[in-house]
Amino acid sequence: KPDYEFVLFYQAQVNGDGQILAAEALIRWNHPQRGRVNPAEFISLAEETGMVIALGAWVLRKGCETLAAWAKQPETAQLKLAVNVSSRQLAQESFVEQVKEILIQTGINAQLLKLEITESMVVNNVDDAIAKMYALKALGVRFSMDDFGTGYSSLSYLQKLPLDQLKIDQSFVRNLSLDNHDLAIVKTIINLGENLALNIIAEGVETQKECEYLSNLGCLVFQGYFFGRPLPLEEFERSVFEKNYK
Ligand code: C2E
Ligand code: CA
Ligand code: CA
Repeated sequence: KPDYEFVLFYQAQVNGDGQILAAEALIRWNHPQRGRVNPAEFISLAEETGMVIALGAWVLRKGCETLAAWAKQPETAQLKLAVNVSSRQLAQESFVEQVKEILIQTGINAQLLKLEITESMVVNNVDDAIAKMYALKALGVRFSMDDFGTGYSSLSYLQKLPLDQLKIDQSFVRNLSLDNHDLAIVKTIINLGENLALNIIAEGVETQKECEYLSNLGCLVFQGYFFGRPLPLEEFERSVFEKNYK
């Protein structure tokens, strides 16, 4: 069923030159009556009902299949793909095994797969999350901390997680040029990332101005409407060919 009603969109993650380095997979629901439904309207319900486990497994498989297809073309072979993981998914006892199986079946380079987790997911059961993350890390999988700055931000556990990237939440990016408070938070996140040797990406970058502010603060990778909206696979691939190879 997922293959008929659900579809993955892909949003570019770019460097300062606008070169596409990666994508984030974002689910859309093509509802037979309601048309395209955004995840804000169904992900939390899917979490509550537990349906997010099946949905998340489908997203992960689909995403890895895309990475496998990208690996066959030189223009897309280096692209990383970020996939959102929900707390219910990570909490499953079989999660590591599931990911391992998908990696084997699709034959992808695990280093190109970035799992996006959030602070709240980790806080609920820190030891379990850490153990699973290390097991996945040993397979080569990377981790990005999504919505960073909005959650608990306990610095002591942050240090214990095998993270590769912090993703500055879009709420801090939004008023960057106007609001000194947000500026201070973004600066702090970037410093933290540097001190913990983590990459930094900013999400929700909508204007050139936001991009300039972020660059000046030392954030050099961006995701947002200014660089590209989430797109169906073929359109995203076309934008990679155009932007990276013109
Ligand atoms: P998120 O992971 O924080 O994803 C970023 C959201 O910001 C996406 O909304 C994206 O379309 C939107 N966005 C990107 N650039 C901009 C921008 O410049 N301005 C603004 N205003 N928004 C921007 P989307 O696709 O509606 O997804 C909403 C949330 O649903 C995601 O937030 C994520 O938490 C969840 N989600 C999406 N796909 C999946 C999935 O496959 N699995 C799970 N578990 N959750 C998903
Ligand atoms: Ca995300
Ligand atoms: Ca986010």
